[in-house]
Amino acid sequence: MRIAIGLLLIALLSVSAEEPLRFDNYKVYKLFINEDGQYQSLKNIEKTFKLNFWKEIRSLGEDCDVMVPPEKVLDFEKFLQKSSIGYNLTINNVQELIDNERPKARSAGMEWTDYHSLEEIHAWVESLAQRFPKQVSLFSIGKSFEGRNIKGLKISYKPGNKAVFIEANIHAREWITSAVITYIIDELLVSRHPAVRDIAENIDWYIIPVLNVDGFVYSHEVDRMWRKSRQGHGNKCIGTDMNRNFGFLWMSAGASNDSCSETYAGPFAQSEPEINQLVDYVQALPDDYIKIYISLHSYGQYVLSPWGHTEELPPDYDAMMHVAKGYADSLKRRYGTVFTYGSSALTLYKVSGSGKEWAYAVKGIPIPYTIELRDKGTYGFILPPEQILPTAKEVLEGFIGMIHAAREINIV
Ligand SMILES: [Zn+2]
Repeated sequence: MRIAIGLLLIALLSVSAEEPLRFDNYKVYKLFINEDGQYQSLKNIEKTFKLNFWKEIRSLGEDCDVMVPPEKVLDFEKFLQKSSIGYNLTINNVQELIDNERPKARSAGMEWTDYHSLEEIHAWVESLAQRFPKQVSLFSIGKSFEGRNIKGLKISYKPGNKAVFIEANIHAREWITSAVITYIIDELLVSRHPAVRDIAENIDWYIIPVLNVDGFVYSHEVDRMWRKSRQGHGNKCIGTDMNRNFGFLWMSAGASNDSCSETYAGPFAQSEPEINQLVDYVQALPDDYIKIYISLHSYGQYVLSPWGHTEELPPDYDAMMHVAKGYADSLKRRYGTVFTYGSSALTLYKVSGSGKEWAYAVKGIPIPYTIELRDKGTYGFILPPEQILPTAKEVLEGFIGMIHAAREINIV
């Protein structure tokens, strides 16, 4: 009887609190794929070797990053040698990076030396509305699948401005994106630097610091490498890639119909409440008001424009590249960090159903980007907390250059 009660207790506990997954001795390799046959054989072993692609391959001759569980490492290296695939071991122990990322001691409020939980980010955003009641208004686009509020804020100093719309952390594990955007919010409100005051006061900023609230909490509490939503739709695997779920040319390229894939597009367009409500929110804003739409991601250091589904270029491509150049040049000049810019399909890989494609094609926002923040694969998604501030500062500089370039061609 006592054993039975004990077992029952264990069963109850395991239901209420999911143990965090560990990644002890998981390794990440950078692979160099030069032949089609190599790519095919890599894809063939993806499931049996439990590979997790941190960076997908776009075309032959380019690199990709893949995470391998420890029990598969020996066989995987044998496979690489047999297939003559060139490789570097970039991360020797993923868990070690995750442990270093955990804050040692946490002070109240927001600083940019640590990654923060959803609760902390939301509490901080709410405190801004009290500190800056004239400039900050809070909004919520609605509730997530698990019932969390998807909060955002608008910063506006005066009527008549054009607007920039930014969503961050649509992919749960890309923690640097919400860390950077909260820094930008802070700078827009408190900085005295004239260039920052200029973009703060002459542009309206709509910012959702964490769009994928459910996935973000799950990545903090259970699986640091979680990317997708948390809705199951009765599928074999849980989660939809929200940045493949928007209703423009949904599932036409660079998306998967396999629920276990990291790029699963969902059972139908805008099946995820987070995306459906985001689309409604942006649609309800006046036409010709939002001029720039940014979806913040990591990693790879890219500014990516439409199109994603085709290598053909959109009508406003020259303007998109002029403004992207403004972003990239400005931060490179000051910090030396290099961002590559171009269309998704030409620069990184094909994609459909992403936010920037929808923003451009459906809402008619002329300058839409996916911006991939640091780094190039040294730490990948687990960028050390020491890099939050340098990354945030370079993005702020990039935004100043971006707004200047947009002014030059009368976008804002
Ligand atoms: Zn992403």
